[in-house]
Amino acid sequence: MYCKKCGVELEEGSLFCKACGTKTTEEVLETLNNEQTVEKHKGLVIAGFVCALVGIFVVPILGLFGIIFGAIGISGNPVKNKIRSFSIAAIILGIIDIAWIFLNVIFQLT
Ligand SMILES: [Zn+2]
Repeated sequence: MYCKKCGVELEEGSLFCKACGTKTTEEVLETLNNEQTVEKHKGLVIAGFVCALVGIFVVPILGLFGIIFGAIGISGNPVKNKIRSFSIAAIILGIIDIAWIFLNVIFQLT
């Protein structure tokens, strides 16, 4: 890591910059917070993903849960991580589900 004030390279885990004495603890805290948000809404997002996936084969309306839970997952995980990717996948699958419902309705009407 590097000192954010003077840019000198520092040993991993050092609390102060050896050149200018600036504290590095804030960066450590930030990293911890990021690690904690990695798992945010994990259960919800996976449930949404499963709903959207099942929706494609069984009940397309379940795709709504994929879109809703996926949106919650994205808002809870602004950093690029596994749960965010799952959220995006859940939303895409959910949209396919809903599009499938609309296609069925259109074909039944014509
Ligand atoms: Zn420094």
